[in-house]
Amino acid sequence: MTPAVFLDRDGTLIEEAGYLDSLDRLVIYPFSVDAVRLLNRAGFAVIVISNQSGIGRGLVRESFVAEAHTHLAAHLRAGGASLDAFYYCPHHPDATVAAYRQRCECRKPAAGMLTRAAHEHGLDLHRSFVVGDRWDDIGAARAAGARGVLLRTGYGREAERAPREGLAADAIADNLAAAVAWILGQS
Ligand SMILES: [Mg+2]
Ligand SMILES: [Zn+2]
Repeated sequence: MTPAVFLDRDGTLIEEAGYLDSLDRLVIYPFSVDAVRLLNRAGFAVIVISNQSGIGRGLVRESFVAEAHTHLAAHLRAGGASLDAFYYCPHHPDATVAAYRQRCECRKPAAGMLTRAAHEHGLDLHRSFVVGDRWDDIGAARAAGARGVLLRTGYGREAERAPREGLAADAIADNLAAAVAWILGQS
């Protein structure tokens, strides 16, 4: 079983842009390529897990989410870095699109995307990490039995100023590059 690093998308690999719905607003952080390549070389599966309630709210087309992922993966691949899989949750309890209006098991902080990835890719969640800019990312790590690193990019500084009762990150890092350095230093 392989350990994984689960990466949030918005505010983690790319700039937080609200409900991202066009490629011209998709800005990949300059450190993302090196960070993912280091995780690849260290033997981690690298998997993106993203809450995309904009789909359920009718603000983001599902086809655009696939397009954005293709763009991101191609950019990383050009730098010798690869993503092993990409999971997203289109649901929200207040979604305007009826098919997506539900309390699902996949929207972070639930662990559904992680457990599904573990099943599909043979991952050891207890040796895995989740990196993201919101407490819901850390909550998903906890729910899955993985460790969680909170970033200061995206919404991370706001999150750091507003601790969530009963939830602590295993580390807080300035950005994904710093988080990867911390992860690679864990045994
Ligand atoms: Mg985020
Ligand atoms: Zn969901």
